[in-house]
Amino acid sequence: MAAASHGLDRDRLAELGAVAAARLGQAGVELVALSFVDNSGVSRVKAVPVGRLAQAAAWGVGASNSFDFFLSTDTIASGTHSLGPVGDLRLHPDLDALTVLAAQPGWAWAPVLRYDQDGHPHPQDSRALAATAAARLADRGLSVRMAFELEWVVTDADEVPLPGPAYGYPRLSAHNDYLRAVVSALDSQQMDVEQIHPEYAAGQFELSIAPADPVRAADLAVLTRETVRAVTDAYGMRASFTPKFEPGGVGNGGHVHLSLWDGDRNLCAGGTGPFELTDTAASFGAGILGRLPALLAVGAPSVVSYLRLEPHHWAGVFTAWGLENRETPLRLIRGAAGQRDTAANLEVKSFDLTANPYLATAALLFAGEAGIAADAQLPDPVDVDPGTLSPAEATAAGVTRLPISLTEAITAFETDDVLPSAFGPQLATTLMDIRRAEVAELGSLEPAELCRVMRWRH
Ligand code: GLU
Ligand code: MG
Repeated sequence: MAAASHGLDRDRLAELGAVAAARLGQAGVELVALSFVDNSGVSRVKAVPVGRLAQAAAWGVGASNSFDFFLSTDTIASGTHSLGPVGDLRLHPDLDALTVLAAQPGWAWAPVLRYDQDGHPHPQDSRALAATAAARLADRGLSVRMAFELEWVVTDADEVPLPGPAYGYPRLSAHNDYLRAVVSALDSQQMDVEQIHPEYAAGQFELSIAPADPVRAADLAVLTRETVRAVTDAYGMRASFTPKFEPGGVGNGGHVHLSLWDGDRNLCAGGTGPFELTDTAASFGAGILGRLPALLAVGAPSVVSYLRLEPHHWAGVFTAWGLENRETPLRLIRGAAGQRDTAANLEVKSFDLTANPYLATAALLFAGEAGIAADAQLPDPVDVDPGTLSPAEATAAGVTRLPISLTEAITAFETDDVLPSAFGPQLATTLMDIRRAEVAELGSLEPAELCRVMRWRH
């Protein structure tokens, strides 16, 4: 049995699963949701009674290979590596990440790792890829702390966004109980909320969670969203995480904050580079900035993403970086003097919440690491809205527009010298196969129709 299980120590997993199940049972848990995020950024889930958790940990729960080809509309696309309806993968809960869900009484949640029936890791497992990317940096003696920032639009049951001015206190006071319930649920799941506030767009809110190691940060992005969704539903409202709720409005971002560490030293502060970045952090940032066109195929991976990515909407649509510049896709946040050694970080603004957070994490870390390997240099920072530069000024500053469509981002990804090989041929090819399928399915829809179709998918 062990010979056919490869890296999986099934006996040990069964033991750990039994211990976890006993603990969950005492906490009143009856069911465990086992979820993964597919290549289109949708969380897919199966659930087991708590009494089956040990079995699931050791042997996994079956799931079709076809999930790799799901579009966010639930169309199952075909692609080079598609097996159609044939084949089975096993979903193994990561017991270390088990969480009792506060907003779904009687439930717990665990992210899964996907293996084949012989115990080989599935080459399209995005959570494993994020761990691989973090391990590569660890080989250089570096670590990353990350956080995903969530924006979402709350509507009433009729899908009309809540009223109230941008960042306005009335939206907070009218829904103070709801916001408290969101924070309280996250808090009881040991998730450290840093801030919550009404955002610019109609009905929009934003929430920041404290940074964590890369895989945990992506887990937290999944769990935060599902918690917000469950609490919103319980209040008789709906939460939309789509990049663009309606044409013309301000979008929902899924900004990613990253700081690079050498032991307990934050390399985004205290250096001799621009704004006291260290050379290593500057190269890490340059690796990301230089690959942003390709990164968009992972971090802004849907057709609707490109309705959000327009100038003057704080979404970051030009190849530029800057200090506290909310119009550059790479924004250096230093924090207040006195706390920069912990607070300084780089924010990637162009990403949205149709991205699989594990793939987004992996892509950013691979890109940053490639920047370090190449000793990449950041260009001069931009301290105006890059969308206001004249063509001559933009050329002089090396500022160009990022992809304006998913098709452009696909081309950039496919011709990138780092990302396809770091993702591995099966995953890289499948991702682009399904992106093309999404363009074929949704690319000709009018913006209003596209927004309507995508509003509740993620
Ligand atoms: N809602 C904006 C976006 O689409 C971001 C606003 C902000 O900077 O927080 O990314
Ligand atoms: Mg915001």
